[in-house]
Amino acid sequence: MSSPNTPPVSAQDFAASILQHLKTSLGKDAPHASLYDWRMSLSLALRDLVVDPWFESTRRTYEARGKRVYYLSMEFLIGRLIEDVAVNLQMDEVASEALESLGQTYEKVVADEPDAALGNGGLGRLAACFMDSLSTLGIPAYGYGIRYEHGLFEQHFDKGVQVETAETWLEQRHAWEFERPEVNYPILFGGHVADEDGKAVWHPEETVIASAFDTPVVGWEGRWANTLRLWAAKPDRNFDLESFNRGDYIAASAPEALARTISRVLYPDDTTDVGKELRLKQEYFFTSASLQDLVRRFLSEGGDLKSLPDYVAIQLNDTHPAIAGPELVRILMDLHSFEVSDAISTARGCLAYTNHTLLPEALERWPEDLFARVLPRHHRIIQLIEAAHFAEAGEQVRIIEHGEVKMGELAFVMAHHVNGVSALHSELVKETVFADLHQAYPGRIVNQTNGITPRRWLYACNPPLRNLINDTIGTAWPDDLEKLQGLNAHLDDPAFIDRFQAAKDTNKARLSDWLKDRDGVSVDPAAMFDVQIKRIHEYKRQLMNLLETVALWNEIRDNPNGAWTPRVKIFGGKAAPGYVVAKEIIRLINDAGAVINGDPATKGLLQVVYPENYNVSMAEVLIPATDLSEQISTAGKEASGTGNMKFALNGAPTIGTLDGANVEIRDCVGAENFFLFGLTAAEVAARRMEPDYARHAIEASPRLGRVLEQIRSGVFSPSDKDRYAGLVDGLFNHDYFLVTCDFDSYFDTQRVVDTAFADARSWTRLAALNTARVGWFSSDRTISGYARDIWNVRSMLATGSGDRDVA
Ligand SMILES: *Cc1c(COP(=O)(O)O)cnc(C)c1O
Repeated sequence: MSSPNTPPVSAQDFAASILQHLKTSLGKDAPHASLYDWRMSLSLALRDLVVDPWFESTRRTYEARGKRVYYLSMEFLIGRLIEDVAVNLQMDEVASEALESLGQTYEKVVADEPDAALGNGGLGRLAACFMDSLSTLGIPAYGYGIRYEHGLFEQHFDKGVQVETAETWLEQRHAWEFERPEVNYPILFGGHVADEDGKAVWHPEETVIASAFDTPVVGWEGRWANTLRLWAAKPDRNFDLESFNRGDYIAASAPEALARTISRVLYPDDTTDVGKELRLKQEYFFTSASLQDLVRRFLSEGGDLKSLPDYVAIQLNDTHPAIAGPELVRILMDLHSFEVSDAISTARGCLAYTNHTLLPEALERWPEDLFARVLPRHHRIIQLIEAAHFAEAGEQVRIIEHGEVKMGELAFVMAHHVNGVSALHSELVKETVFADLHQAYPGRIVNQTNGITPRRWLYACNPPLRNLINDTIGTAWPDDLEKLQGLNAHLDDPAFIDRFQAAKDTNKARLSDWLKDRDGVSVDPAAMFDVQIKRIHEYKRQLMNLLETVALWNEIRDNPNGAWTPRVKIFGGKAAPGYVVAKEIIRLINDAGAVINGDPATKGLLQVVYPENYNVSMAEVLIPATDLSEQISTAGKEASGTGNMKFALNGAPTIGTLDGANVEIRDCVGAENFFLFGLTAAEVAARRMEPDYARHAIEASPRLGRVLEQIRSGVFSPSDKDRYAGLVDGLFNHDYFLVTCDFDSYFDTQRVVDTAFADARSWTRLAALNTARVGWFSSDRTISGYARDIWNVRSMLATGSGDRDVA
């Protein structure tokens, strides 16, 4: 395989390959080719280069009978792939040169690619980063998910109000996938279970076909490639011929439409799930297909199913695939004649579960009657699992209770390990949601702090900083990110700090141009870019950020000659379409932004910008240009966060609470280099016990009281003065997320940030220090931890320098 930093193909040969695809894959000649044609041809030419490492990886895994990881995730938030693949193959410069020689602009072609947005936010993006790291580390792995026809909805603002439209990424051909029409599995639903000769036999009433589409995922330097296998739903038979012959075309096509709805749309709910039958069917659909597929692969290699745990590690990304426990037990019992207890212990030997949230409303539960109707066999098997769990641990935690099937408890009981996603979160998992199960199965809960892939989130998205790092410490860091520590020795070198500042300035200018081109918005690149981008949720407290913005506006107006630090407050993020409060917060940010941006008294000092439709590609433009990272969730609520890591890696200091991985980021960069504020998780819990805590906090803060009164009285909604009365009353009366209690501490800390930012050189040093010290948050480190502590799998790449031919 290719040696470091040497492209596998010359620009000339690559240009020829692009032209060949233009001709034979797109059926176009160059003078008539559209941007789409060029983009497809470039993608296919790059994909060609992935195929050999992909075959080679599969061959080596078969030959060595290596243990494989199966990562089951309802979501993969991938984003664009051209730049990602080009960078991993060291082909980015060659590709750019080749397109140039064909009269095309690489950046324009790359920007034409739609995001593969098969996820809501952090959970789906984590799965995508993990796929990248599994390949970089040479661990044999499959990602399994759903090939949604419509990814996450597109967000638009209509007079400040979020409206959603369908996302249509598959309207154009998806260049990266290989359809596998021969890889099909029947997925069964409904019907009843009969006792026949002392055996339970499932007589399902509905069948849907799961059909595979494979996308190769190539790792760093093309050393290894794994597969992302996504399932599309198809009808069992295309048409009911009999009704068709009777001329009833519509009736004949009804089952087809029904089957296809299963992989039609991604549920747009972030952290709160709705108990909808279609969602349960989606979960079972992709989980069953994936398990059938991996069992078939295992048997085709001549394995004895009793040894399945020696060859198969199945990771459940949240509870969405928790039906894997009973489904694997069903396969072993009903199809391979296992005894119950053997089936359960074998399944448990394969399965591990990642918990992502402590929010009680986000722990999946299904009404038992719905569950028993859709999956009657699994309903019975869960009763067997519960009985086995009682026998082992005593009758304490039930899986089925009060007419509900509890998927968190099911996943826990059927997993050999359960992990949280940051040190704090894993401790809280032990103390809260799974306290009793932790007592019953001590040692089962472990921690694996999340990470991000440095290939996408630094190397590809931040060329100026990438080049500076290469020049300063060499080029060995993208797959060994702790090497960034080498930058520490340069923090007091003025030339290095100048270049770091120049890189940030370049990125800020790029973002300014992007905002101008896209939305016609002008921002001052010399101002502080203060950025909060993530799903809109009460616990993430975009509302607190907005209240602080209004308070600052007041302060500047009261004291127009003060030494204010100019700020651009940038918000980005979508709200779940049914999440009323989150949508009110979006509207308030837009309404307040319009008033503040139109005020001549604060012009040049304070601006609010909220570009619509936040997604991975937007993050890639915003994060490198950020001066200040907002990570301000209520302590104890953000399981980890990964946005926080992306910002720190790209040289943006954090203002944040002691929540999720913020705690570990602060440990890495040093307490004196982190703008900490707010209550701790323990203090949050205690404060909630105090009567009228929100009212008291508001009474104690005239600054906050004034802001709330402005919002309530319609200063930002003059045509509809009561628009935000309900939102403000909510803060007075419930304020479950303690916006009011943390407000003063947040405001004061922002003023400390103002002062720090005003000293440009020391601020830049702080930014560079962040980059130097957060290498630990590479998802390579996270995946190495899973491989060692949970999966017991090894890299198929020889370690040390032996396997890599040195140029
Ligand atoms: C990283 C990322 C997230 C997660 O952000 P958090 O701040 O951790 O919630 C969500 N959406 C996109 C598009 C991302 O890239």
